Amino acid sequence: MPVSIPADVPPPQIVAPKPFHRTNFGVEVTSLPAGRTLREFVAVKEPWGCTLQLERKDGNAWAVLHAERLTPTATAGAWFELGSVEESADIAYRYRIPADGARPEVLSAEAVIRHRNPRDYTGLAAEAYALIQPHQPHTVIDVVEEMPQGTAGGAHALATAMLGYDLITLHSSLAEGGANRRDFRTVVLHEAAHLRQYEVYGDAAAMGDEIKGVYGNEQFLEKAANCLMERWGGLAEGNHFPYCDTPEAIAMTDALAAGRPYFRPGSPHAPTA
Ligand SMILES: [Zn+2]
Repeated sequence: MPVSIPADVPPPQIVAPKPFHRTNFGVEVTSLPAGRTLREFVAVKEPWGCTLQLERKDGNAWAVLHAERLTPTATAGAWFELGSVEESADIAYRYRIPADGARPEVLSAEAVIRHRNPRDYTGLAAEAYALIQPHQPHTVIDVVEEMPQGTAGGAHALATAMLGYDLITLHSSLAEGGANRRDFRTVVLHEAAHLRQYEVYGDAAAMGDEIKGVYGNEQFLEKAANCLMERWGGLAEGNHFPYCDTPEAIAMTDALAAGRPYFRPGSPHAPTA
């Protein structure tokens, strides 16, 4: 049915700046492991019955992945899902509203998602994946010569985990023959433990509050990650973190190892029955 667009209505405007731009932790998604999907609601101002499309760049052409006809109102939107991509490839995506009568075409910014399939990992990434696979099989592993800004010199000088993004970055000195090889197993499983922490809670506030409640205010995420890493066999023989021995720390490590969140008794984050 034709939609009559009121006079003097401005052109449509896509509210999302880029496809799959997430605001958790202020970081945008740049990589996606095989077996995982991205989903988001895209709002449009002044849609007035336009069609909103998610498009993927194939060579020089844009292919429509999904199209939604929006309602003829001043604001509307639709859910879009990327779906799981099994191939390892860097692929650009955008949202587009095709031109409609006097209304011009509208484009979002383009986002390039680095799709990665673990079967394509080689060298240090493949070795690390072999350690991580039983615990966090959907993990993108990057190996770099220089760690991302803000991490060098700190507790994560050799490795970082991007919480909520299934992404671990490793320094190349962890490779066979590298200067930090002795730390390889410990560091890799520690980062996998960070990914597990976020995954089981799915929410940064709940994760922070519950883990702080067990380990105290100092380095609580690190302590919890170390306890899970130790549980997964990441420590050399004879090493041990004593803060993992309290009954609550053991209960939390049990839960995280089983892929479940741990909630303190009476926690406001605990799901209600
Ligand atoms: Zn850590």
